Amino acid sequence: MEGFKTIINKILEFRDERDWEQFHNSKDLALALSVETSELLELFLWKDNEDFNLDKLKDELADILMYAFLLVEKNDLDINQIILDKIKKNADKYPVDKAKGNSTKYNEL
Ligand SMILES: [Mg+2]
Repeated sequence: MEGFKTIINKILEFRDERDWEQFHNSKDLALALSVETSELLELFLWKDNEDFNLDKLKDELADILMYAFLLVEKNDLDINQIILDKIKKNADKYPVDKAKGNSTKYNEL
């Protein structure tokens, strides 16, 4: 968590000043993360690919990242480790020789 310590502490400070930790169980953090992801998708709904508001994109990405960080913190996880572990799993599923330049899902490679 070292690489993200400063920003996570900012998020926790914001949460604790409002006494919101009591609401932040893993289930509700996951639901909030999904809601924010939907808000991100809404920015693109019924529009062409690159026709979105960058300021709104920043806001929704920040919301998503904050809930993701809170979920990480709640479960005492190491962000770098879980990402490295998942990259390894993805590398096994998508070997370079089969997946390079290819968007096919792993089970159809
Ligand atoms: Mg939002």
